[in-house]
Amino acid sequence: MPAMRLDASLLGLAAAALLGCGRPPAAIAPAPATGEPVDAGLADAPPPDAAVPDAPPPVAWVDPARCVSPCDAEPAKLVRVDRDGEPAAGGDHRVDASVVEPLRALIAAARADGHRLRINSAYRSYDDQARIFRTTKQAGRAARPGHSEHQLGTALDLDLRTRKAIDWLASHAADHGFALSYPPGKQRITGYRPEPWHVRFVGAELAAELRAGGATLEELLRASPARGAAGACGDCPSPISRADCGETTAAGTCDGTVLRWCYDGALAEVDCAASRQRCARAPGGELDCVE
Ligand SMILES: [Zn+2]
Repeated sequence: MPAMRLDASLLGLAAAALLGCGRPPAAIAPAPATGEPVDAGLADAPPPDAAVPDAPPPVAWVDPARCVSPCDAEPAKLVRVDRDGEPAAGGDHRVDASVVEPLRALIAAARADGHRLRINSAYRSYDDQARIFRTTKQAGRAARPGHSEHQLGTALDLDLRTRKAIDWLASHAADHGFALSYPPGKQRITGYRPEPWHVRFVGAELAAELRAGGATLEELLRASPARGAAGACGDCPSPISRADCGETTAAGTCDGTVLRWCYDGALAEVDCAASRQRCARAPGGELDCVE
């Protein structure tokens, strides 16, 4: 089935927060800034298709329970780049066109500070992600297709060779409009294992807001669901995009080093061994990856 094309305007039309998979995606407009319904019949009301002033378009909200919308959407314009982030016809990776210049700036800034950041992975199609999910053995290492930020074309895995490079990226990603989606210690919130190498371009303003608040995009969207646009996963081509929780509860279980829990109606798994931790009860009483 040919994948539908996705662009920012489509994302803006499909703002839908959802709690769990299995239902067809809902498409709701972002709430007006005032929270009041707009009466289009009033003389001074904006035309129905007018943008709400100062309200940025919703950002794609992707996690173990929420999907790219539509599930197998492709970015409108992908640019091929080499491992150093330079546009190149024969490059190994593809990124959304909006990411090319910020990525070059990020890599140049890292190099000026003595770190060579190379790209390990960038855009992946739904089918690419399905193949990776099927062939990855470690629990929770690969997102289910439809549930990966890599399908947006704005997420990248960077090759970080040293502790200093990891720290540099955590400190400076926001300078160039990027945010770490899966920082250490937040697996219960993000639904994915810590990945200090995974950054997503969210734009300068949002990246600065996240850095100032010490929050991930997932935390921000949970606090302000109207700022996100999520698909409901019911349109995903493959059933592997949907994982019912079955008997697994939100509190979850530890199966050896694997933490398994029900994340907003979708089964989530993280192997704590990936971050050299074990699965056990955290000081707050919740099962989590702990030292
Ligand atoms: Zn990644």
